[in-house]
Amino acid sequence: MPRSSRVVTIRREMLQIIDIGANLTHDSFDADRDAVLSRAAAAGVTRLIVTGTSVTSSVQAGALCEAHPGTLFATAGVHPHHAADFDAHSATALRSLLANPAVVAVGECGLDFFRDFAPRDAQRRAFAAQLDLAADSEKPVFLHQRDAHDAFVEILAPQRNRLVGGVAHCFTGGAAELAAYLDLDLYIGVTGWVCDERRGSELRAALPRIPLDRLLIETDAPYLLPRDLKPKPQGGRNEPAFLAHILERVAAGVNRSPASVAAATTANAARLFGLPETPTA
Ligand SMILES: [Zn+2]
Repeated sequence: MPRSSRVVTIRREMLQIIDIGANLTHDSFDADRDAVLSRAAAAGVTRLIVTGTSVTSSVQAGALCEAHPGTLFATAGVHPHHAADFDAHSATALRSLLANPAVVAVGECGLDFFRDFAPRDAQRRAFAAQLDLAADSEKPVFLHQRDAHDAFVEILAPQRNRLVGGVAHCFTGGAAELAAYLDLDLYIGVTGWVCDERRGSELRAALPRIPLDRLLIETDAPYLLPRDLKPKPQGGRNEPAFLAHILERVAAGVNRSPASVAAATTANAARLFGLPETPTA
């Protein structure tokens, strides 16, 4: 056997990673969603959690999972940007989606005072209501927080004991925010933000403080294309296959091998989201 193909075989066996945040229902994937999933599989991304950001996208995410059982899982929730639309009908719709075993978390939900696309009191109400849904359904929460740390912790902390678990998705903060989330026994989701020379320095400094058994990796595709990716894809769209690149950057940041970070983050994702055992190929 030629030496090079043997190396490739070993590499593929080692890499088994889970993208815990992919916005696969985004219309930028409409033309080539199956090709995107094939490239993800070829890059070692064996399972993906499709992010729901509204009732409509959560329904779409659930349907996508039905078409790819065992590979795709979904969250169901209303992003703080859409909090003004959250009402009793939304809660009912999310509750029925959460009855689907492939829908493994509530969210993304939380607070975003950076964009302030929805009034802050509407954001607080929608967030609190989704924490209730998570407690009732005994599913973890997929959390979004931007420029709203104090208000976010104020709402989440008193409810934490009712929740089975949660992840602070797309964590970009520093040591103090990290400590607060670890105190709440949350998992920490790291995206390609870590690859950004300009904006990612605080995150890179905090990275070694994340316990290995709390670390998760995600692309947040089609957003947050890793800035140092070469060559850059046309159109600048991020996709789950690039999780392998993020894994390498995260592994360098915590001074561990990519294989050990792959194994740990995969086990963490399976534990948090209660993913079924996959048959080993
Ligand atoms: Zn988010």
